Amino acid sequence: MTSVSTRPDSGATPGGGPGSAAGTAALRLDAVTKTYDGTRGRAAVRALDGVSVAIPPGTFTAVMGPSGSGKSTFLHCAAGLDRVTSGAAWIGDTELGSLNETRLTHLRRRRVGFVFQAFNLVPALTVRHNIALPLRLNHERVNRRWLAEILDRVGLAGKAHARPAELSGGQQQRVAIARALITRPDVIFGDEPTGALDTVTAREILTLLRSCVDETGQTVVMVTHDPVAAGHADTVLFLADGRIVDEMTAPTAERVAERMTHLGAWA
Ligand code: ADP
Repeated sequence: MTSVSTRPDSGATPGGGPGSAAGTAALRLDAVTKTYDGTRGRAAVRALDGVSVAIPPGTFTAVMGPSGSGKSTFLHCAAGLDRVTSGAAWIGDTELGSLNETRLTHLRRRRVGFVFQAFNLVPALTVRHNIALPLRLNHERVNRRWLAEILDRVGLAGKAHARPAELSGGQQQRVAIARALITRPDVIFGDEPTGALDTVTAREILTLLRSCVDETGQTVVMVTHDPVAAGHADTVLFLADGRIVDEMTAPTAERVAERMTHLGAWA
């Protein structure tokens, strides 16, 4: 199994760029720090404190850690939703810091997909129009056959003309995954994608994300606080105080829960 490589020494890869002996990572952070300026009397916070990691293509990574450990910041910096303070974030061979806002927006729409806890669908649009939205925003044509294939894949073939309010939570999250898949992204980022779902529905969604990795070779990176969800990943990264403090391959829910307890996550 390919494993995530955390690189505490990081920075200088011989030859530069995201390439390494193991090939180009799907995403990579090199000595990333992210500091939020103090406002209204609050002290500045270093949310990420020298994070280095290379995540191989076609793998499923879960990111865990206590509340405030930097999970959301990690996701936002890795996905180009936020700029790093120092260090570098890469998607494939693109260094995000080198892109202006227009190019960064294009990369977010084209090369990465997002699945959030709250689904974030547009209530007024039908399922098919929600799914097609990233392409429409990019002024690209929607291939009907591809859209039908995606709908079929997420198990919503009969729901193309429904509106989000007519669907269950699990079905809405399937629409969100279909919307993430429509651009054939290299990386799919999940921010607590099963956080609002019951156990059975959550398992279905995780199985669907797993299939994106196993069947179409996409890379999934998911923030979660749920050891059962993390158990679906190939690798779990554990964050504490803005640093990667541990990594687990072939995780099980039990081992993840035990590790989290040691991190004081549920104290
Ligand atoms: P997690 O997702 O693990 O709960 P976050 O990445 O949200 O952690 O937060 C990490 C740290 O950064 C916390 O101390 C949090 O309060 C702080 N933080 C996050 N976002 C901001 C922000 N926009 N402004 C100031 N501080 C922030």
